[in-house]
Amino acid sequence: MIQTAGNMKTYKKKIKAALKNRFLRKALDNFASAYKMSRAKAFEGTNLDILKDQITDGKDQALAQLLILFDQFKAGAEAAGAIVHLAATAQEANEIITKIGRDNGVKTIVKSKSMTAEETHLNDHLETEGFKVTETDLGEWIIQLRSEGPSHMVMPAIHLSRQQVGTLFSDVTKTPVDLEDIDHMVKVARKELRPVFLDADMGISGANLAIAETGTLGIISNEGNARLTTTLPRVHVALVGLEKLVPDLSAALRIIWVLPKNATGQAMTSYVTWITGAVECAASATGKKILHIVFLDNGRLELAKNPVFSEALRCIRCGACSNVCPVYGKVGGHTLGHVYIGAIGLILTYFYHGKDKARAIVRNCLNCQACKSVCPVNIDLPFLIKKVFGNILEDEGVRPAKNIILSAVMKNRRLFHAMLRMAATLQKPLVKKDAGVLRHLPFIFGKAHDFRTLPPLAEKPFRDLWPKIRPQIQTPRFRVALFGGCVVDFVSPEQAVSLVRLLAGHEVQMEYPMGQNCCGLPAMMMAEEKTATDVAVQNLEALEPWRYDYILVLCASCGSHMKEGYSRLLAKKPEQVEKLRMLHDKLMDFSSFMVNVLKVTPKDFIQNQTRVAYHSPCHLCRGLNITREPRELLKTAGLEYAPCKDEDVCCGFGGSYSLEFPEISSEILRQKLNHVEATGADVLVTDCPGCVLQLRGGMDKKNSRIKVRHIAEIVADNLKNG
Ligand code: SF4
Ligand code: SF4
Repeated sequence: MIQTAGNMKTYKKKIKAALKNRFLRKALDNFASAYKMSRAKAFEGTNLDILKDQITDGKDQALAQLLILFDQFKAGAEAAGAIVHLAATAQEANEIITKIGRDNGVKTIVKSKSMTAEETHLNDHLETEGFKVTETDLGEWIIQLRSEGPSHMVMPAIHLSRQQVGTLFSDVTKTPVDLEDIDHMVKVARKELRPVFLDADMGISGANLAIAETGTLGIISNEGNARLTTTLPRVHVALVGLEKLVPDLSAALRIIWVLPKNATGQAMTSYVTWITGAVECAASATGKKILHIVFLDNGRLELAKNPVFSEALRCIRCGACSNVCPVYGKVGGHTLGHVYIGAIGLILTYFYHGKDKARAIVRNCLNCQACKSVCPVNIDLPFLIKKVFGNILEDEGVRPAKNIILSAVMKNRRLFHAMLRMAATLQKPLVKKDAGVLRHLPFIFGKAHDFRTLPPLAEKPFRDLWPKIRPQIQTPRFRVALFGGCVVDFVSPEQAVSLVRLLAGHEVQMEYPMGQNCCGLPAMMMAEEKTATDVAVQNLEALEPWRYDYILVLCASCGSHMKEGYSRLLAKKPEQVEKLRMLHDKLMDFSSFMVNVLKVTPKDFIQNQTRVAYHSPCHLCRGLNITREPRELLKTAGLEYAPCKDEDVCCGFGGSYSLEFPEISSEILRQKLNHVEATGADVLVTDCPGCVLQLRGGMDKKNSRIKVRHIAEIVADNLKNG
């Protein structure tokens, strides 16, 4: 039985329990590392972007005409001897399948893996109705024996060790099983399951694809069990989500080509089974298979019409969004999901299982964009996750107090900045001056937050320093505006001062538009879309992008939100379109500006070869797609770049995430710092002030000798004439 926490208190307990499971973390970590390599290899030589766009377009076209495709499929499949049903709800699907069983005198059922059957809780229903149901996919059989739900959509028992499985098999078979010998365990499962196949009256499968043109089902699997399930028993029922409908074979083949590569890094699965109509069947009295195909709506037709969320139905259930999710990697699928797991699970749970199941889990997202970057059907998962969170707040009509306060303050820039200035004065007794950190955490933070030190607010924000350091260039090559963001402006102004030093020798006229506010990402993270939109408009007005050649950002998160997030937020504001287009075209991160526009060379820098490791911020490498320039800049600036494991994996900051889920944030950070220490670097460099805050606080807490610096600072320090 799947237990999903309905409130934060219970959910936090579940998280703590999951974090204590060291095997789980190790298994998921090993898998994530191996997966990345295998996936890259499997897609070698493929223009994945084009393929993704083709599949996405195909899915969107299919979703726009699901009922037409259903009618076409039904006509083709029934002409070939199948009986096709359409169930409006999960309950109705279960009842249809029960009736098919009863009408055909079924007592025993074998099942192959089907997430749609998990969605309807089909096993529980059939067992209550007196049928004996046996899962035959190895992973599914294991979790059935343990009365659990899947912890991954493709590898349902990934959370279990071989010893746990061996012990389970030993209990079930009442014979000793070698706890280290996986081959032996597979043989035990085969020996147990083969007679069950032969005795079964009915087989139930899912399907990966339903081809409308021919009424054909496509099932892909790695174990032979799906074929045995669909061929041996006299009755076969396929339970299929309506979104699996595709118009023709070529659309199906594109998905089949991508799915295994994206799911596990396999070039191809072991079995691809095509079923068109009722074929010969020796076990049936008529000599023909009794084939029923039950399509499940359960909200899909409504969802397909939703202008924002319909893209969630493109999902082909590859599970890749779990494979790369740093949160999933720490707590596993029983904690990050309900029936559907990982990023897509956080979204679908709301639509298929209701807000009570989604309420707590949907908040557990760092917005690191890793899921979005591997999704083969271009679902903007992090954005939809925040939208679901917003929908739940709206459904419940209760906004948390912190949301209300944050919104009121953030919308009013003057008030927001006045409060930051006041806090900078009030914090003075708490500041450990020589160390540049807060001596004690403010009372709002509990013990769980003690995994990093926190920096104090700067005595003077950058906007107060600016009038004195503003350069005056007579004939500038470029006019640029800096968008600082809250952390640079009020916590780490030295990062912007470094930028001023770097630009000085390059005839760049820099400006710091004073009307700029927070970029609005924290409001988005708290599902305060209205506030985020207001703030976006304020920044567009303040930045006046038409006045500059470039809008520079030192914060990857601000930059990525302003480029991607603003487009979403301001899509319905035609008066902002032109300004938005200019912002989009002119916005540039620091490293790209230095490398691609100023074209700095090694001659500009002292070549001291300090050994540096690099952390690639999520919103730079995935949000803005910048990967080459920071590494190139480090080398050009005379530093020795030491590659680090998982450079592009999140540091666990995620803005307010690290405050809301410090247990997970600290675990992700711990692993990141270990990888950095293994490089032997003296300095850890990154290009996001939020990441600097997290990484520096973590290094400081563990008394590491490794310094953490923003890339602008270390590059400026190596300037020859700086
Ligand atoms: S954005 Fe990151 S943390 Fe959130 S679901 Fe996607 S991969 Fe997981
Ligand atoms: S959302 Fe995308 S990555 Fe996640 S399971 Fe679906 S298709 Fe795969």
